[in-house]
Amino acid sequence: MTLFGVEEVLPCGNEAELAGTELRQHVAKAVDALSATVGEDPQVLRRRLLKLVNLPRLSDADDHDLREVLRELRVCEQEGGGAYRARLRRVTRVDRPAGIARLPRPRLVKPASTAGTCGLCGDGYNVGELIGRTPSPEELPYIPMGWLCWHCLVQRRHQPRRRDVLLRVFHALFAGDGVGLNGIECGVLLEWLTEDPALANSKPWAADPLENTLVRLRAGDMDGKPTTWLSAQTAHTIVAVLQEAVASPTTTVQDGEMLSALVQHLAEWATNPANVRSSRYGTGWRFRQQVLALTEYPTVLSQRGGPFFLYQCKTTKTGQLVEPA
Ligand SMILES: [Zn+2]
Repeated sequence: MTLFGVEEVLPCGNEAELAGTELRQHVAKAVDALSATVGEDPQVLRRRLLKLVNLPRLSDADDHDLREVLRELRVCEQEGGGAYRARLRRVTRVDRPAGIARLPRPRLVKPASTAGTCGLCGDGYNVGELIGRTPSPEELPYIPMGWLCWHCLVQRRHQPRRRDVLLRVFHALFAGDGVGLNGIECGVLLEWLTEDPALANSKPWAADPLENTLVRLRAGDMDGKPTTWLSAQTAHTIVAVLQEAVASPTTTVQDGEMLSALVQHLAEWATNPANVRSSRYGTGWRFRQQVLALTEYPTVLSQRGGPFFLYQCKTTKTGQLVEPA
């Protein structure tokens, strides 16, 4: 069999339309096709794939993994010869920031086989740029994130952008948690809340004063604290206040779009425009998941779903930071 035979069934680039069993079958066919082309035993080729996705069994790979594997197999087939050996090799070296900025080691990192968008922030990445997957969360309500850009995979707690803080707010409120920020993220939020002094006179601030929150954010920032917790109520107030902020050069277009998306979905969770039945979905994260899925105005947040676990620093009983392995 040749991969050409597979492509009669599925034109190149349509992997996104495949899911579940059908996707798995295409991967199996593509492995057989590549194995015939390069003359390597299919079992050996499968072991290469397992190394690439860093999993014990291919059945552990999810649809996100398999779509990238399928694209990779196609590129290998087109390149022919021995090029597949280099392509199907795991990237093992990942330099991560230390301290409160450190994120868990990615389960897998590889150069992107095609251009795509990050499964967390929505930024685009190009062919060849390093992308990766995080270890899957073990507990509900969290669901696995797709392929992440390098920033989201490694840098987002070290050099957080304003929208990285908004993402933490969104996914924490989605899951039903308070919002946990490391000291660097506290600094970013503090700057956003204080760069326009008029914000302290805004309606939402007057209704739920943020002075004490600013003190806590400043302490988190100055002391480099692992986690400063904000209540859901305070997070809602902060979002309402930020909405009142005038345009600033520090707020990028993407930050502004993310803020609008966050405001929209918080409102939908409150008003339930699609009439999601609480008798079926309750009032917690399952309800919010369903409201998000049925939104009339999809955004970068609703298209990715969630809730995602964006990591919280761990500390010992005496407050010492425990970095993720
Ligand atoms: Zn990203």
